[in-house]
Amino acid sequence: MKYTGAHVSASGGVENAPVNAHEIGATGFALFTKNQRQWTAKPLTDESILKFRENCEKFGFSMDSIMPHDSYLINLGHPEKAKLEKSRAAFLDELQRCEQLGIKLLNFHPGSHLKKISESECLKIIADSINISLSKTSTVKAVIENTAGQGTNLGYRFEHLAEIIDQVDQKDRVGVCIDTAHAFAAGYDISTESGFTEVFKDFDDVVGFDKLLGMHLNDSKKELGTKVDRHETLGNGFIGWTPFGMIMKDSRFDGIPLILETPNPDGWADEISALKKLEST
Ligand SMILES: [Zn+2]
Ligand SMILES: [Zn+2]
Repeated sequence: MKYTGAHVSASGGVENAPVNAHEIGATGFALFTKNQRQWTAKPLTDESILKFRENCEKFGFSMDSIMPHDSYLINLGHPEKAKLEKSRAAFLDELQRCEQLGIKLLNFHPGSHLKKISESECLKIIADSINISLSKTSTVKAVIENTAGQGTNLGYRFEHLAEIIDQVDQKDRVGVCIDTAHAFAAGYDISTESGFTEVFKDFDDVVGFDKLLGMHLNDSKKELGTKVDRHETLGNGFIGWTPFGMIMKDSRFDGIPLILETPNPDGWADEISALKKLEST
């Protein structure tokens, strides 16, 4: 069973996200549970939480098919103490929102060293941030996303993801989300059949498919290895359709959210139906 969907709008309230996802024919979705460009947000109301759960049930979204993304402001590897604390507090709030909604996963970018500390020091701070946050919550899983490696963002090598996970205490509450555009921009050539096979063999060796809790399905506006993060509509970028067909036919990607973050929301219904067709052909 594939959970295929997109990162849909939650404007007007989180309860609207499952409605928006249903309208594009999705079987899973991502959302922001608060404004992603602000540090703080009003707590979720009981009414909003109830309606969210009702709408998920009404439209058949299992809690395994939903993977929110955290705020872009958060840097769990921040080299400065005050700013790190601010990020950790905001991240905890995001995890708690997920638990209130009954959501099992929260997807986030690992963090940036800002050229002030080494990569491994930063990865250690990120792991500490995850440990602290998980110790203050009980069910939600921390889902680390691979990055394109733009600027000083870590997570552009599978080894980074593994190094963080190695230092996390609650191993059953940490996993990863692989973004196809980020992987490609970071230098992993998934655009051909043999390239895809090799990259995911490497992924399995370094991180392991048992840790794969979600995927972001995006084509890339930028070429292989450019380290520039620019998503493109499926089939219109430098990646092409090949890996998306392979993902849809591969049971290792079953049972996890497969989320479009492509730039044209009006095209999501078509992209989702194209993906579903690939699954069955
Ligand atoms: Zn992301
Ligand atoms: Zn992504």
